[in-house]
Amino acid sequence: MFRRWWFIGLLPGLAEGRPARGGRVPKERQELVLREWEVLRDRLTRFAAERVATAGEVFRAAELDLPPEEGAARREYLWALDAYQAAGKLLDEAADLPDLTAAVVLAERAVERLAAAHAAHAGRRPGPPVLRCFYNPLHGAVPAAPPKQSNKARRRPRLGAREAAADRRPACAACRRAIIAGQPPDVLPALLPAGATGRRSPGVLVPYYAVPQQWSPWSATACGAYGEDGPALVLRGEHRRRPPRGRRTRPGATGRPD
Ligand SMILES: [Zn+2]
Repeated sequence: MFRRWWFIGLLPGLAEGRPARGGRVPKERQELVLREWEVLRDRLTRFAAERVATAGEVFRAAELDLPPEEGAARREYLWALDAYQAAGKLLDEAADLPDLTAAVVLAERAVERLAAAHAAHAGRRPGPPVLRCFYNPLHGAVPAAPPKQSNKARRRPRLGAREAAADRRPACAACRRAIIAGQPPDVLPALLPAGATGRRSPGVLVPYYAVPQQWSPWSATACGAYGEDGPALVLRGEHRRRPPRGRRTRPGATGRPD
């Protein structure tokens, strides 16, 4: 789902890995892209709502009442509950595709950690954590790493530049294939509002990870896919960072306030 968004090749800053200055995309094309963004936002909102609702059903069916001595299971369970609550909050407050993606990711991680709590409660080892695609955390999981190589295998020829680039970030099979073929991976875009990169810059779409971290907590954490702090950050309201000079305009660059 959400694969091969046709406008990915148009994203400024994809090759450079940083937001581009405005004005490099013709206005008509930019408006077309922003209209497509609205369609995607609506689709992703419906998808995220389904994921959060599914997580809610799982929690209701698999509630746990853990005594204090089951510390490991309680830690997993409390994290899972926070993640589920944060996913619902993000769904209500989402302003852009990365917020909605984080809602999906946290709802899914909540269910995974609930399963880990049940495993700990039953005295079983939890399964390995799911590793999500950095380029678009909505993609399939990253394939498991091959087993450690012997000394003999390590003496094979060194990786080419493209393989090395593909290994730099966790990538699903399709994104890895694209990078090795010299193509851009199928990235999740984010909308930088008008004025974000300069006084007269228009709203532009950029890869989500190119948004400066002080503007979005999702750039560095792959929309909450990595790290433990995502749920607490959302529950404290710290996910609502925005570009300081960005005027919040309706996508389509009409200049009208939101
Ligand atoms: Zn991918």
